[in-house]
Amino acid sequence: METIPHFIGGRRFVGEARAYGDVFNPNTGAVQSRVVLGESKEVDETIRSAVAAQPGWAAVNPQRRARVMFDFKRLIEANMKQLAELLSSEHGKVVADSKGDIQRGLDVIEFACGVPHLQKGDFTEGAGPGIDVYSIRQPLGVVAGITPFNFPAMIPLWMSAVAIACGNAFVLKPSEKAPSVAIRLAELMMEAGAPAGILNVLQGNKTVVDGLLHHPDVKAISFVGSSDIAQYVYATASANGKRVQAMGGAKNHGIVMPDADLDQTVNDIMGAAFGSAGERCMALPVVVPVGEKTAVALRQKLVAAIGDMRVGISTDSDAQYGPVITQQHKARIEQYIQMAVDEGSELVIDGRGFSLQGYEKGFFLGPTLLDHVKPRMKSYQDEIFGPVLQIVRAENLEEAIMLPSKHALGNGVAIFTRDGEAARTFASSVEVGMVGVNVPIPVPVAYYSFGGWKRSAFGDTNQYGMDGIQFYTRTKTVTQRWPKRGAASAGDAAFVMPTMS
Ligand code: NAD
Repeated sequence: METIPHFIGGRRFVGEARAYGDVFNPNTGAVQSRVVLGESKEVDETIRSAVAAQPGWAAVNPQRRARVMFDFKRLIEANMKQLAELLSSEHGKVVADSKGDIQRGLDVIEFACGVPHLQKGDFTEGAGPGIDVYSIRQPLGVVAGITPFNFPAMIPLWMSAVAIACGNAFVLKPSEKAPSVAIRLAELMMEAGAPAGILNVLQGNKTVVDGLLHHPDVKAISFVGSSDIAQYVYATASANGKRVQAMGGAKNHGIVMPDADLDQTVNDIMGAAFGSAGERCMALPVVVPVGEKTAVALRQKLVAAIGDMRVGISTDSDAQYGPVITQQHKARIEQYIQMAVDEGSELVIDGRGFSLQGYEKGFFLGPTLLDHVKPRMKSYQDEIFGPVLQIVRAENLEEAIMLPSKHALGNGVAIFTRDGEAARTFASSVEVGMVGVNVPIPVPVAYYSFGGWKRSAFGDTNQYGMDGIQFYTRTKTVTQRWPKRGAASAGDAAFVMPTMS
């Protein structure tokens, strides 16, 4: 059986691994490979290699660092098909969706190609008599990223492309459930010209994460995953004096106004709720029709659309979504469906018991639709992260705005309407970090930045965009004066606080 290694100091590395994790093929349910699970020895070794490589890389001029990013992008594009198939084989999302995962990462690399401009500082000539002030953005040193299973390419690239372009060395701890793509990305980064030790991949679980959170040479931690772990990572790393950004879970709502174009809206909701088997942090698992008439019409169209869906293996080009990540996760989703029923919601379509001929042991779930879901229900409050769509009915826009605003998670939200006034009121007042107006999955483009509110993100800066540049650099401000020789006389010392007047 294949062993998925670390990538440390520019080479694949297994070492004297003592523990391994099973990597499944979610289509068949079989273990297809095993991944090494690092321990403190590997953490130390990786950080040593990154510390040794980083100063040389930081000294490379920004234009040359950008050229490495251009080549990195070109190499990923050239390997798109193989990368997407590899990603799908471990994650289970359909290959076309894996290409989207990779493309969203490529967009961030493209943004990072602008680093010579993005990393520029400021300069003020004559801030005081003969005084100039300038600021520079220097890399932090060695930084680490800890990523979830659901975007094995995009999220590692959100972090590593920006961090490395800015002159840092990066240690990636990918999800142990989908660990292979990270290794290929690190190899392509080296092929593009980054020195050994600049992009390292450290495989593992909590042991490795804790090693990174406590290591004195790791200057910043970027995390994406579930909210409880995000909060733990944020608290632990900041207590150790590190810069931290930690993105958590989500429960995104789609508000459907009475004037919405229902056919278009249903298409949008279907893709956002069930694409990638609902395992996206920007999925739309809650739909909020406003008014009884909207609810009745929307439900009817959703039922028809769900009836036409095709669930299949990840290489089935006609399938709309594939299996979920593990048997354990499948069982958890099924428990939430039962909980929703027990709490009093109406099970309109039950996706449990779905079986695909020839793939009976795969981790498949059919689409599930629940109606009359109420805010007090735990199945509404928690993130389910599966192909389950919940309808929560609202009487008016105000009530609809309060639902996502009061929810503990505040990643994304969308409104479907033709009424500009309603949309503007909604976008301005809703307590959520990323808002779509007739856009079901409002993941910001690479030159904006990504981040939710409340328990969906701990820390002050978002992922990528200018926030990413700020996160991976620190500002140094220099105030300089070049007085004329011989201009000072003895006894001219000033004891009051200097001002520029
Ligand atoms: P997860 O929290 O289980 O794992 C994320 C990472 O943390 C993995 O690398 C994992 O190895 C590590 N980890 C797990 N348990 C840990 C522990 N006890 N201590 C330290 N580290 C630990 O998340 P997941 O199941 O891989 O991914 C799905 C979650 O990620 C969902 O909640 C989803 O909403 C969220 N997510 C959020 C965003 C966002 O940007 N807000 C994006 C994608 C996914």
